[in-house]
Amino acid sequence: MEARRHVALKESIRSIPDYPKPGIIFRDITTLLSDPRSFRRAVDSLVHPFAGGRIDQVAGIEARGFILGGAVAHQLSTGFVPIRKKGKLPHKTVSMAYALEYGTDEIEIHVDAVKAGDRVILVDDLIATGGTATAAVNLLRGMGAEIVAACFVIDLPEIGGAQRLRDLGVPVRTLMEFE
Ligand code: AMP
Repeated sequence: MEARRHVALKESIRSIPDYPKPGIIFRDITTLLSDPRSFRRAVDSLVHPFAGGRIDQVAGIEARGFILGGAVAHQLSTGFVPIRKKGKLPHKTVSMAYALEYGTDEIEIHVDAVKAGDRVILVDDLIATGGTATAAVNLLRGMGAEIVAACFVIDLPEIGGAQRLRDLGVPVRTLMEFE
């Protein structure tokens, strides 16, 4: 049942070759989001392991992690915390730089967005190198939060990001894999 459900979910993802640059296959979740059943199934599957447990905040990574993370937070009756690209949050922030293929990027969180001891789930649409998620985990842990899990709709296992997170002691939940 669970396996069949995820095949249908996988078919709702649109793959766009050579976007944003040659050689990259962009896994576009907008087609999952616009299909009511797929959207509900994805959110329900992400939420499932945590229903009934104590979660204080869901942290979503800009921008697609906001859509999924907001829905997950609603289902779990938790708060939602945005993790944004540098310069977008209005209040005092804590930031973390991370390496890209060429150069670096930086993400930020409001300094009072989580409290020490908060149990947090991190949500994004896709994990590739894990660079973004690792920076988010380091930000949240630096504020004293406990990362209960990092959840993604899509894993690109050959790139190794999910394993990288597991090596940091973060439980990882993903709903499907692409090469
Ligand atoms: P990474 O830090 O390498 O794990 O990249 C993850 C972030 O980049 C996520 O926020 C994804 O939305 C985005 N991303 C990376 N690769 C892809 C891809 N092939 N298709 C869609 N989004 C991607």
